[in-house]
Amino acid sequence: MKKTELLFLKEDVDIPYNWAAGRYGSLFLTRLRDEGKFIGNRCPSCGKVYLPPRVVCGPCFTPPEEIVELGDTGTLVSYSVVNYPFIDPETGSRRPIPYTLGYIRLDGCDTYLSHFVDETDPAKLTPGLRVKAVFRPREERTGRLQDVLHFKIVD
Ligand SMILES: [Zn+2]
Repeated sequence: MKKTELLFLKEDVDIPYNWAAGRYGSLFLTRLRDEGKFIGNRCPSCGKVYLPPRVVCGPCFTPPEEIVELGDTGTLVSYSVVNYPFIDPETGSRRPIPYTLGYIRLDGCDTYLSHFVDETDPAKLTPGLRVKAVFRPREERTGRLQDVLHFKIVD
């Protein structure tokens, strides 16, 4: 059997697309961009507060229609210090290492937010640390979760 030479072509394909964030997603992202505030919603049946807001409470199947404004502080629940240079979907380049990705539970909220934490020394990280969101300056915000630069550890 004759071997076939494989050819590889490298091309960049630009595929721009948009999709609707939905009623609650739009509210969440707009208030994040315009006011630097986190908006969630509360289930009237079980009291659970969601961030970002959801259309329905999973355990109750009830629309959590009460809008709740949350603060910018919370608790680091879990984290991972990443030492592999994954491709950053925001830039298309390898993200500089190390960096820390954390699960943060904002005060008054029952769900977790995944975001960057500005500490990469494992000796200084532990679940339960208090953290605070650091927003981009208003003129740099575009209505994405990345309008929050990262969370910083506070005493
Ligand atoms: Zn509920």
